[in-house]
Amino acid sequence: MTATTAPERTNLLGMTREQLEAFFVSIGEKKFRAAQVMKWIHHEGCDDFSTMTNLSKALRARLEETAEIRGPKVVYEGSSSDGTRKWVVEVEDGSYVETVLIPADDGKRRTLCVSSQVGCSLDCSFCSTGKQGFQRNLTSAEIIGQVWVASRSVGSSRDTAHRPVTNVVMMGMGEPLLNYDNVLPAMKLMLDDNAYGLSKRRVTLSTSGVVPMIDRLGDDLDVSLAISLHAGNDELRNELVPLNRKYNIRTLLDACQRYLQKCGDARVITIEYTVIAGVNDQQEHARQLAEVVRDLPCKINLIPFNPFPHSGYEKPSRNQVVRFQKWLHELGHTAPIRSTRGDDIDAACGQLVGRVKDRTKRHERYIQSIQIDAD
Ligand code: SAH
Ligand code: SF4
Repeated sequence: MTATTAPERTNLLGMTREQLEAFFVSIGEKKFRAAQVMKWIHHEGCDDFSTMTNLSKALRARLEETAEIRGPKVVYEGSSSDGTRKWVVEVEDGSYVETVLIPADDGKRRTLCVSSQVGCSLDCSFCSTGKQGFQRNLTSAEIIGQVWVASRSVGSSRDTAHRPVTNVVMMGMGEPLLNYDNVLPAMKLMLDDNAYGLSKRRVTLSTSGVVPMIDRLGDDLDVSLAISLHAGNDELRNELVPLNRKYNIRTLLDACQRYLQKCGDARVITIEYTVIAGVNDQQEHARQLAEVVRDLPCKINLIPFNPFPHSGYEKPSRNQVVRFQKWLHELGHTAPIRSTRGDDIDAACGQLVGRVKDRTKRHERYIQSIQIDAD
């Protein structure tokens, strides 16, 4: 006798509305089932077809046989005294990914920092994820799964007046534009009213500057865009962000202008500038920064460098960051400084957080998470 293996079930978690409609049509059901099931999954955080009471018993049974709602497994959940919450989730091959929910001081925003890859291939010199190297792309289910995990443990996304997650920033591990095929469906779900219903201004993709993919993103979606610039001259940026050798500052900022034109509303680009002691924190650097972004509608966010072992860089003093901010101000730019929060649960910006051993104990996975200032 030959052993038979059960057919693989389709995971519905990462499917966009169009994909889910196609799935229901493929099993002889009406398209509108997609919206019904999406609401169960994303509004209610449901992973059990048997509780989906507006579906017939026959359909529920059929779904149990052929499909599943499989989110990432939560292996750690923690809260910080300042209200920051963190989840470490295990994704398919036993890797760990970290997601952080940061409440705004006024209590109005709860911003989730989401990862797109395990590790990163771009090797920015000041980034702990980059030092870890690239391991793999997350699937769309693993990406939206981070929003799903955080939302369901905080409340119901059905209640639009009190959404558990009000903003999402793709600023966790990885370069989202190098995992476009999985990031795009996940972002579509963030925006879809049957899922998380966030406005496009409240969903931000951060990139170190993969120029052709910025153009593609502008054709497909008009979410908010953040650019990790960190330097106003190519020589220094080549050192900090090696991708700059391929797409230099001018090429990158031109792509930002094209992106804004496609958005067609009064949008601005967020320019992220990690301030590193003695590297990019002097007055000439502020001048260079102001000069290169002169014609770009943008807001600058200053992120004090968060040190990690063997980074070779140092954290700037608070005074130096404030001085840098003042120089920018004199040059016409208001540049908020991102506060470091969630320290007591290792959720602060760019730190070596989530020191979780992987299953095979090969090495520790170091995960970076960051603070954000998106409205
Ligand atoms: N790969 C994307 C998104 C993830 S990195 C990007 O580079 O934009 C998210 C942000 O954290 C980037 O602006 C990055 O430059 C910043 N960052 C990385 N390591 C940091 C560190 N050690 N201290 C402060 N900011 C850091
Ligand atoms: Fe990758 Fe962003 Fe880190 Fe650069 S800063 S190595 S692009 S995650």
